[in-house]
Order: sequence, then C-alpha cells, then structure tokens
Amino acid sequence: MGFSTDAVHAGQEHEKVTGAVITPIFQTSTYAQSGPGEHTGYEYGRTQNPTREALEKNVATLESAAHGIAFSSGLAATSTIAQLFEKGDHIVATENVYGGTYRFFTQVMGKFGLQMSWVDTSAVEQVVAALRPETRMVFIETPTNPLLVLSDIRAIADVCRERGILLAVDNTFLSPYFQRPLELGADISMHSMTKYLNGHSDVVGGIVLTNNDEVAEKLRYLQNAVGAVPSPFDAWLVLRATKTLALRMQAHGRNAQKIAEYLTERDDIEQVIYPGLPSHPQYELAQRQHLTPYEEFGSGGMVTFIVESFERARTILQKMRLFTLAESLGGVESLVCHPASMTHASVPKEMREKIGLTDGLIRLSVGVEDADDLIEDLRQAMQG
Ligand SMILES: *Cc1c(COP(=O)(O)O)cnc(C)c1O
Repeated sequence: MGFSTDAVHAGQEHEKVTGAVITPIFQTSTYAQSGPGEHTGYEYGRTQNPTREALEKNVATLESAAHGIAFSSGLAATSTIAQLFEKGDHIVATENVYGGTYRFFTQVMGKFGLQMSWVDTSAVEQVVAALRPETRMVFIETPTNPLLVLSDIRAIADVCRERGILLAVDNTFLSPYFQRPLELGADISMHSMTKYLNGHSDVVGGIVLTNNDEVAEKLRYLQNAVGAVPSPFDAWLVLRATKTLALRMQAHGRNAQKIAEYLTERDDIEQVIYPGLPSHPQYELAQRQHLTPYEEFGSGGMVTFIVESFERARTILQKMRLFTLAESLGGVESLVCHPASMTHASVPKEMREKIGLTDGLIRLSVGVEDADDLIEDLRQAMQG
C-alpha cells in the first residue's frame, strides 16, 4: 500500500463489538479474567492496551518496521533505548543532538557507567574514529536542530553492520514521510511524537521502531518493566493525527521550500539553511536520503536563517504576528524560535559560536497555513 493509505488504515481494524470505524479509546487500567490466569491477552493497562497497540502498528507500518513500541514522551523512548545497555558499554552520538537527549545521556546515564563519545556524525570518518571494542550503539540525529546538518544514514549503517553495532536514528525532524532510516539500514528509528507525528501541539509522546526482533523483544519488556507508557487518550490523539501525516508533511514542506526561497532572495539575510535549497552544503545527500520529489514538497518543515545581530533578530521576533514565539516544532501552526536565548541558552556562547549557532540565528517551524500569509508576516517583520 502507499504511504497515505497506510497512514489512514494500518493497525486499525473496525472494532469487533459494534463495528466502530474508529479505534476506541480503551480507557481502562485492567481487564476481567474468566478464571485465574485465563485472560483475553489483555491483563493490565501498563502491559497491554488496544488503542496503544493500534498506534504502534500504524507508525511501524509507516516506517517499514515490524515493531513499534510507544512511550509517554520522546525522552522516555530514548531512555528506554539506553536501558538496552550495561555499565561499561560505549555509545557514539551526534554532538549536536536535541538538548534533552544530551542532558539525559550525560547527567542521568553517566552515573550508571554508560560511556559516551560526542562527535560530528556528518563526517563518517569521525564516527569510525570514535568506535571502541565496547561500542554498542551509534545514535544519530539527522537533520540536527537548528543547523539542519545531515548525517549519512546508509554510510553509517554500513560501518555499524560490519562491526555488529546498533545504529539508532532520531527521526523526529522529518517524520517517516520524508525519511525512513530503517530502509537505509538503521536498526532503530525513534521519534518524539510530540512533534510531526502528532502535529497538533497537544500531546507529548514518543515511539521506537525496529525490524530487529531481539531488540524489539527487549524494548517491549522494558516498556512494561520501566513503565513510561502513553495514556490511551494520548495514543488515540496521535493515531487520529497520523491519518493526515502525508497531507500535513506535504503542506509543511511546500511552505518551507517557498519560505526558504523567499528568504534567499532577500539581501538583508546572511544565510538561509534548508535541505531543499541547492545552497545547502549537503543538498546532494538530502536528495538521496530524503523522500518525495523536492520540486513539489520540499524537504521537511524546518527552516533556519541568520541575520547580522541579536538586536536585529529580536526586532524581527517581536514584530512577527502569525508565527508564534515558542519552543517545540512540528505542529500545524507556524512557530518561531531564537535558539541562542531559548532552546540552546544553556550551551556556552563559545560553544554556540563554534558550531555556528550565532545570536542572529532564527529557527522557523513552518506550519500548514497559506504560504503567502506566512511570507507576508516575515516581510512585514523584517521591514525597516
Ligand atoms: C522534542 C524532541 C525530543 C524529545 O521529545 P519529548 O517528546 O519532548 O520528550 C527528542 N528529539 C528531538 C529531535 C526532539 O525535537
């Protein structure tokens, strides 16, 4: 089946008792048993829930995965992946990962003896150089936030496979509509469902996808044993949202491409970063790695641009009306963020400058509104 057909139908059979077309919210913590130890396959709400299962099957299908395991947040998904490992194990990760991921691995897992190497995974040779005999996983985020630097999933997957190391990819920024890491050889793909998968800025959730039966079995065990599960209602909301994932991602991408092109034409902007622009340093990799034709749907909904100073950035941010100044991304409404003072304020200034995250950098999460209105908002905000 095609992606849009799967998005609407995968994992969802009509409910058996009433024929309800939409998977119900099974808002229950427990299930009646007909005799001691005799049950329907459903015993307890943390362990099994039909609404959650429908969501897991749905997203797994969209990522070409045999297994999907859902969690109460993206970080709960990451932390459960981390619990696959033991004291002394070593992980190589993208140096510019989502801030919460970095905080989790360094501040929380560090004290349990998990060893980390943070490298620029856009250079495969840096990944290779960081590998040790005790390396168990390479964890990459591509594109990164907010500089939209890509890592070559297939090339890193080849390196990992040869050495029996797992490759996990945080696929939050593109969603399975634009990027499917498992098809490129990754073992694990994960999402903050809070972003594009839910797409309506009203749920916090996470999910892990894999074709590796052994990893899936361990994660399923940990999902229950650790217990960071999503509520039935949240699972239902995300399942409702994935039905329109293709439509939303097309609109996000189309609008983002138009905005990136508009910004490129302006001469008062220092740099525009968008993987769908030929000026992106990894445009060729983006074309190989990201799905769908660019001319039509762009390459994701995130656009970053740089103006000359913090003062100029602040003036623009204060004048924007349609774009809401807020953290997070991936919702139908357009958001704007100033990473140096918001999401990345905890990163020391020298470090920010080193990676190119300057005070004049503005990040857009382009929504699904009319592109003309969004461009007009940018134009009036940059005037004068
Ligand atoms: C938001 C985000 C996360 C964390 O997800 P939560 O749902 O907020 O816990 C992880 N990775 C990326 C790329 C994100 O944007």
